[in-house]
Formats: sequence, C-alpha cells, structure tokens
Amino acid sequence: MNATDSHALDPRRHVPGPGELAGRVVAVTGAGDGIGRAVARACALHGATVILIGRTVRKLETVCHEIETTDAPQPLIAPLDLETALAGDYDRLADAVLERFGRLDGLLHNAGILGTLTPIEHYDVPTWCRVLHVNVTAAFALTQVLLPAIRASQDASILFTTSGVGRRGRAYWGAYAVSKFAIEGLTQVLAAELEAGGRVRVNAINPGRARTWMRRQAYPSENLESLPLPEALTAPYLCLLGPASRGVTGASFDCQL
Ligand code: NDP
Repeated sequence: MNATDSHALDPRRHVPGPGELAGRVVAVTGAGDGIGRAVARACALHGATVILIGRTVRKLETVCHEIETTDAPQPLIAPLDLETALAGDYDRLADAVLERFGRLDGLLHNAGILGTLTPIEHYDVPTWCRVLHVNVTAAFALTQVLLPAIRASQDASILFTTSGVGRRGRAYWGAYAVSKFAIEGLTQVLAAELEAGGRVRVNAINPGRARTWMRRQAYPSENLESLPLPEALTAPYLCLLGPASRGVTGASFDCQL
C-alpha cells in the first residue's frame, strides 16, 4: 500500500492556484530536461524562485531563459554534476543558497539515470556503482548539505523521486530498481528524523510513465507519442512542494491515476 491509499491528500487531484508557490524558494535537480524541466518551469509560473540544478549548463540556461520570458521570479542556475561532484561543490551550492536566500522551502530530487536493463548475474559493477551514486548517494549528500537552509524555512518540503520498480522489484531493472527502493527508504528515515520539528516534510513521488529521454532508453520500441508529456504531470509536484501538502510526511505518492 502506498500513501495515496493511507492519506487524505491525493496530489493527483490537485489543481494549483495561481501564485500558489509565491514567496517560496525551490531547488530542482535535473532541471534541464524531462520532468525536472517541466516541474521547474511550473514552480516558477506559480510564483516560486527556482534554483535550477543540473549537469548540462546549456540546458539549464535554456530553462532559465524560458522562465525569464515570463513574469516569474528570476531563477538561479546551479551547475552540479551529481556523478563527479565533491564535498566542496556541494558546500559552495549550499553556501550560495544561504547567502542569497537565507533558506530553502522546497527541494525536489529529480535527477536520475537508468543504467542498463540487465540480469543481476551480468550487471556491470561500475555501472551499478554509478547508478547508486547518482540516484541515491548524491541525493543524500545534497539533502545533508542543504539541511541548514531547509531548517531555516518555516514550511519546507523535501521531495524524492521514486518509481514503480522501487516498490515492487522487476527482473532486469537492476541498479535502477534498487536505487529507487533505497529512495523509498531514505524518504521514510529522513521523514521520521525531521517529524518532531513539524516544519520539514519529506515525501516521495512516482511520476509514472512520461515522454522523456529516460523512458525512451528503457522502452526503445514504445510509441512515445502515447505517453503524457512531463508538462501534464506537474500539478502533483506543486502540491507536494507547496503549502497544499503541509503536515503530510513520510509518504510515497503516485503522480498518475
Ligand atoms: P530524463 O533522462 O529526461 O532527465 C533526467 C535529468 O537528470 C536530466 O536533466 C539530466 O541532466 C539529469 N541528470 C542525469 N545525470 C545527472 C548528473 N550526473 N548530475 C546532474 N543531473 C543529472 O529523465 P526523466 O525526466 O524521465 O526522469 C526524471 C525522474 O523521474 C528520474 O528520477 C526518474 O528515475 C524518474 N522516473 C521517470 C519515469 C519516466 O517514465 N520518465 C518513470 C518513473 C520515474 P542532463 O539533461 O544534463 O543529462
């Protein structure tokens, strides 16, 4: 059973109001493409100041420019390669957030890699380590270094990205599936640790099928046109990153019915 069964809140039915995220500072990893790009833009369009975190600066600049052509608050670009980033890179990002904003109200861990679809028996060990590092360890490290800024918020939301294969194992999904199981666990552990303060909620979201590069990698023969665009999936993210989810923590939600 996941949280959509056990909580009254159902982000799939959320209809974001204009300016719903006004005044909030929200960081999104993997903001240059796919779901991250769509969510970052949606957050900005609903009033948030967005910190665009990602590895391909050209893509981040494009998203930044797209946001700048609207009435949204000026976004900030924060280049960070989650595969190669060292402690100093994380520290510089956290220092910049604190210096510029003094707090962080939302953190979406969206960046991820698929690795290969291979039986465990034959799974390449370096690929395994890379997937676990980008999808789990980097998300942990980024959360840890940003916690002082998150704690400085009156109402903060940390949102991890999970997947159906992170709730029920599926053959050949290897490191990717295991990384999403780990994300489900990280969500629960961190939520329990932060629950007492009542000001930081921690949840996970499974976007479901979406028309992105990662989906094409996983299902190369699938007709991508049959899948929802990332832009169609943003409302549940706004719900979980914004005030609508206040008081809900430690849960794992689905984005699609
Ligand atoms: P995409 O491949 O389209 O986008 C992934 C994003 O992550 C890109 O912006 C990419 O940056 C970034 N990224 C990858 N590696 C790194 C790195 N080392 N450092 C920083 N950023 C990095 O994937 P989706 O949009 O489809 O996936 C987004 C999330 O949703 C993932 O966590 C995925 O597991 C999850 N998900 C997706 C589903 C789907 O059907 N699409 C289904 C279930 C879950 P760049 O563009 O520079 O490469």
